[in-house]
Amino acid sequence: MAKKILLVLYDGKHHAKEQPLMLGCVENELGIRKFVEENGYELVTTSDKEGTESVVAKNLHDVEIIISTPFFPVYVTKERMEQAPNLKLCITAGVGSDHIDLNEANKRKIGVLEVTGSNVVSVAECVLETMLVLVRNFVPAHEIAMKGEWDIAQAAKMEFDLEDKVIATVGAGRIGYRVLERLVAFNPKKLYYYDYQDLAKEQVDNLNKVSEILNKRGDIVERVTSLEDMVSKSDIVTINCPLHESTKGLFNKKLISHMKDGSYLVNTARGAIVVAQDVSDALASGKLAGYGGDVWFPQPPPSDHPFITMRNKFGGGNAMTQHISGTSLDAQKRYCNGVKSILESYFSGKNDYRPQDVIVIDGHYATRAYGQNK
Ligand code: NAD
Repeated sequence: MAKKILLVLYDGKHHAKEQPLMLGCVENELGIRKFVEENGYELVTTSDKEGTESVVAKNLHDVEIIISTPFFPVYVTKERMEQAPNLKLCITAGVGSDHIDLNEANKRKIGVLEVTGSNVVSVAECVLETMLVLVRNFVPAHEIAMKGEWDIAQAAKMEFDLEDKVIATVGAGRIGYRVLERLVAFNPKKLYYYDYQDLAKEQVDNLNKVSEILNKRGDIVERVTSLEDMVSKSDIVTINCPLHESTKGLFNKKLISHMKDGSYLVNTARGAIVVAQDVSDALASGKLAGYGGDVWFPQPPPSDHPFITMRNKFGGGNAMTQHISGTSLDAQKRYCNGVKSILESYFSGKNDYRPQDVIVIDGHYATRAYGQNK
């Protein structure tokens, strides 16, 4: 019997035909069917991922590899691993493998790999976009214009510039650093980062040098070791760290209470890093002027998720999209190629993966990015 790969993706429907570059959907199967079958594997592709009667549940008993995306994640829990005794490998087509119980994968020596770097530019661009949409009060201004109205005051009363603001990132890895790079062009007053890993000296020097050239402002980058301290000094905070045991629910009522009144929070990392109801309450009270991003928990969210109805006290301040920042068509090409090369390495038996793609392997964490996980 052919060995089995389970591929869980979002439905492309008629969009899949209209846009053949959209490889990351059920219909286009990351472009890997022929390759997988030539290597003697059966490929089961589905979007039916929830519950005991789903296609996912029914295929666990003999699956060897599960491939999924963060955009429409299959939650590979301890219970699901128990039902999948042959599972050897989980591959994330994209970046961020928190939908997999990584500690349990370690116990069972299941490898977890992702396509590191594949969509980091796509996300960094989206972080900048979201900051601008919020700070420029774009959504309310657009809605007013689309109603055929002309009410400058209504839109302008919450419209600011990005220039001269203090901006901070929680996590300064591949995405966080690219966000800082792009922000320099907007002449910020200060750029802070909070991370338990230092940026390389060369990275900091480059940011300061470009800021000096463009804005006549050197020394703008600073590492901060107290998160409360950093958020209390920042006009805009962006979250760019993975979801793991110590970042789950990190932005709760308590931490948000340390944020500057009327500040903004942008989160394209993972929905569960913030407490959604606490964010919604902070918008309603005026503590936050805006919140935006593309990540939710769970995904898809229930129809009463607080992010759908949350607004600031003037009826704006919500810049949410579905989880799309890392699935631009450019990014899809990169993460599909990356999945294929991970599979090539696995099929060959060499397991000579790119080191940066390996999250857990042979029962241990291969990266420090998922926290101080044991
Ligand atoms: P990365 O590994 O290059 O960087 C992550 C950084 O976060 C590391 O420097 C790490 O030390 C730091 N970090 C970990 N825990 C921290 C904590 N408690 N406090 C502060 N910093 C902490 O990863 P990346 O490529 O920059 O991606 C970061 C995250 O962004 C991913 O894990 C994923 O969750 C998310 N992401 C989202 C999308 C999307 O489409 N929205 C796409 C790609 C990645």
